[in-house]
Amino acid sequence: MAVTTLGACRITSPMAPLLDARRTTEHYVDEQDRVLLDDTLAGISSRGVPASELPGMEPCGPRRKIFFDPAKTRAAIVTCGGLCPGLNDVIAGLVRTLTYHYRVRRVVGIRNGYQGFVADYGHDVVELTPESVRDIATDGGTVLGTSRGPQDPDAIVDCLERLHVNVLFVVGGDGSMRGAMEIARTVAERGLLIAVVGIPKTIDNDIPYIDQSFGFQTAFSLASDAIRAAQVEAKSTANGIGLVKLMGRHSGFIACYAALARSGADVVLIPEVPFALDGEQGLLAHLRRRVAERGHAVVVAAEGAGQELLGGSGDAIDASGNARLQDIGPYLRRRIADHFADAGVDTSIRYIDPSYAIRSVPANPYDSVYCVRLSQAAVHAAMSGRTEMVVGRYRRRFVHIPMKVAVSRRNQVDPHGDLWMAVLESTGQPVRFG
Ligand code: ATP
Ligand code: MG
Repeated sequence: MAVTTLGACRITSPMAPLLDARRTTEHYVDEQDRVLLDDTLAGISSRGVPASELPGMEPCGPRRKIFFDPAKTRAAIVTCGGLCPGLNDVIAGLVRTLTYHYRVRRVVGIRNGYQGFVADYGHDVVELTPESVRDIATDGGTVLGTSRGPQDPDAIVDCLERLHVNVLFVVGGDGSMRGAMEIARTVAERGLLIAVVGIPKTIDNDIPYIDQSFGFQTAFSLASDAIRAAQVEAKSTANGIGLVKLMGRHSGFIACYAALARSGADVVLIPEVPFALDGEQGLLAHLRRRVAERGHAVVVAAEGAGQELLGGSGDAIDASGNARLQDIGPYLRRRIADHFADAGVDTSIRYIDPSYAIRSVPANPYDSVYCVRLSQAAVHAAMSGRTEMVVGRYRRRFVHIPMKVAVSRRNQVDPHGDLWMAVLESTGQPVRFG
């Protein structure tokens, strides 16, 4: 969990006089302090090590001594990958903290993801000020734009050098963080002192050591509205079936939380729990029994659920090299319709896919607060010379996480854990279909 730093911190933070005057200097984080990985006696005991050797993470927050001289610092911000509620809150939070707390005068926004660094694309950079970002968080999306597809890390670092950037903030998902690690490696190879700090974005909530990713709460709230709509639709026709496809390529957190937020779902399908459609114990027979008992049924499927039924994605990949998933929604819809027709039961299926409508909304107030605090933590980390790391909240504390740890695996719903048990209790579906 050790975070890389660019060197010793010798510069007194410009926040110091301000904080001293208000007698709030205890706000500074002690460089030796750690947030412990374990928070149960069982966890601590299982390590079998003295307390001083217990694994922990660096706490986020301002340091009394910092690495970069704010008057000579230039910061850049880039957003990459798919949209997620809260991107503009993060951009605005970074700009404000850099300007107000550290008095960094020069903050540039890179347009359209990593493309914006590469001269051939011809994207301009934008100067960002507290004034220019004041109202951006009321809109969804990202004012800087985004992109997928590989870019040459040497071309990116050439651009950072040309712009005299000292601290780079990357707001993006796992792919963006892998890209950021390549940038940091190239920076180190050239002997440059540029901090690369990530604010991890994933609407699916799948980053390890992060309790909840920003935008997740906004996303599952709206997803639960889609479930309610499906329920209303299903209830208003005889033998009606509502089918909702939600985000969740590899992790079914949105589907689980959205289903728990509304009691309307009869079945939740997630990538972590394979299911069978056919047979008496299969999903289709279960649905038919539900419809017979209640007159309607609602199915919630995460987009990565049931890929094993669809024969995998073959070799299809997107611009960034991610495997393209087969579309479970229309497939389920067809199989359900065929099954009810074969059983001689008239039904009507309402299929709702709210994914793009959810990704593009502004963050709710909870996520906005979270984004602001993450962006403040990222600025403190970068100004103290930390690099190749992301900020996150672990057990409600803001911490520094090395990038390689953040991309080392995916957070997934544990099929034997309490979240999935809560879903099973709420829907009444069997532990497994088939
Ligand atoms: P999300 O998947 O949540 O939408 P992401 O950041 O994972 O976000 P990608 O499209 O996979 O989205 O990647 C964003 C950028 O990072 C792209 O420019 C892509 O080329 C780059 N990238 C992805 N994977 C890598 C990698 N392994 N090494 C270097 N760069 C990468
Ligand atoms: Mg990704």
